[in-house]
Amino acid sequence: MTQQRTPFVGGNWKMNTNASQGISLIDALQDGLKGDLVEVTVYPPFVYLREIAARCEGSDMLIGAQDCWHEPCGAFTGEISTGMLKDCPVQSVLTGHSERRHVIGETDELVNLKTKAALADGLVTVLCVGETLEQRENGQTDAVNESQIRAGLAGVGKDELDKVVIAYEPVWAIGTGKTATPDDAQDAHANIRALIAQMYDQRASEAIRIIYGGSMKPGNANELMAMPDIDGGLIGGASLTAEDFLAIVQAGATQAV
Ligand code: PEP
Repeated sequence: MTQQRTPFVGGNWKMNTNASQGISLIDALQDGLKGDLVEVTVYPPFVYLREIAARCEGSDMLIGAQDCWHEPCGAFTGEISTGMLKDCPVQSVLTGHSERRHVIGETDELVNLKTKAALADGLVTVLCVGETLEQRENGQTDAVNESQIRAGLAGVGKDELDKVVIAYEPVWAIGTGKTATPDDAQDAHANIRALIAQMYDQRASEAIRIIYGGSMKPGNANELMAMPDIDGGLIGGASLTAEDFLAIVQAGATQAV
């Protein structure tokens, strides 16, 4: 990792924890954070955001949402706008997580609308991309990443890119215990960085953070984050245990100097 990029570690709680577990977890995380040069954001379920955000006021911990809707208000039953998220307040949002793409059925077009809405509201937007196992076996990893990134960032200006983080998350590695090898993940990240240079320019490609997600744990975080184009991680399962998540943040911190 180059020194200019602040490592980013995100904890995606998915549909886990109840209210009291969420509070215990956030308290333990805040107690354990050492003010390292890592941007740490947790993504709890929507219904706990407000309470957790209040609990984190004044701390280094940032709070994000796992999804958003792209219209500001109206007849969209069950959806949450970026304006509502800012009210909580949250600072960040995930778009295009593979579970939303592959379980819920979100299209690239919808992911793009959400990404643009989140950026327009000033939220740090973590655009998630990645190939399925079948696509990987067919040698389509880079092509899938390219088409998801081109579609996801369509209409996003260079001046908005400082709020964009790209999460490369091979679908076959999410929640499965299988992880891309550091070399395979580095190849994908380097190709994503080259793509950003093509789409924007060299400076933008050097500045943007590209993080890895897919069964990142304390045992593999160091070697993944030591790769030059891996700027942190998006963590699912291991973000539910304070000890494991903090160990991953620590792995990010060792790359920050
Ligand atoms: C994720 O939810 O983005 C993720 C990477 O999950 P896990 O770490 O459990 O694979």
